[in-house]
Amino acid sequence: MPELPEVETVRRGLMPVLENCKITEYIQNRPDLRFPIPADMRRALQGATVTALRRRGKYLILDMDSGYHVCWHLGMSGQMRIDRAADKHDHIILKTAEGRSVSFNDPRRFGYVLIAKKGALDKMPHFQKMGPEPLDEAHFHSDYLFEIFRARKAPLKSALLDQHIVAGLGNIYVCEALYHAGLHPATQAGKLDKMQCAVLVDAVRRVISRAIEAGGSTLGDARYVQPSGELGYFQLEMAAYGREGEQCGLNGCCGVIERIVQAGRSSFYCPVHQLPL
Ligand SMILES: [Zn+2]
Repeated sequence: MPELPEVETVRRGLMPVLENCKITEYIQNRPDLRFPIPADMRRALQGATVTALRRRGKYLILDMDSGYHVCWHLGMSGQMRIDRAADKHDHIILKTAEGRSVSFNDPRRFGYVLIAKKGALDKMPHFQKMGPEPLDEAHFHSDYLFEIFRARKAPLKSALLDQHIVAGLGNIYVCEALYHAGLHPATQAGKLDKMQCAVLVDAVRRVISRAIEAGGSTLGDARYVQPSGELGYFQLEMAAYGREGEQCGLNGCCGVIERIVQAGRSSFYCPVHQLPL
């Protein structure tokens, strides 16, 4: 599932094609994705200019001069493709005045779009209680994390996946951040002291920044690609995720990566340098 670095990479790839560009044609090939496509989509997009292309958590947000925000979630396997030949799983196609096209292709249809009128975006349930962006140093820092973790008995793994605590993280990058911070995924969030929160904030930020630089992660199913069609490369740098049974090797660590299942999802960690608190 695309997480923050993948959505950010998609945003950067789409910028030159969409930002400050006019959508001259809106093509919609079916009424629904995971949810029904909002009735206002054509009104929001057709003939309107994209004044900004932003990201919040795992959502792409198109600010339109028609007075709407269009929020796009790529789901499990949704792709934004630029100037590519038509495919039967292209559900929505945007054509621009410059003669470019962006198609939303999603065979499994777990993706969806939401619409908000200008000024109403922050009040939508999806965004209202969303936690800070991990790269936002003014809001995501050790004091913040320490305060919000304080009374929590939830394991670190689920606390970091909670979009109300921090936005955009999913299974892969949480595993990687905990590995680099030397924290066990099952440790209760409330047990961290301020110093450990600082180390964790730093690890989250470094993992996310590196993954964005690498263009995100393309795993076995290869459904995530950059809008250009190029793969992401962060999977080559993954130290814990998907490496069960392999040597840890972090600063000479002799551990062997293990896998446990938490809330139905795999966590990968090193039992030698990620000890439970
Ligand atoms: Zn280790």
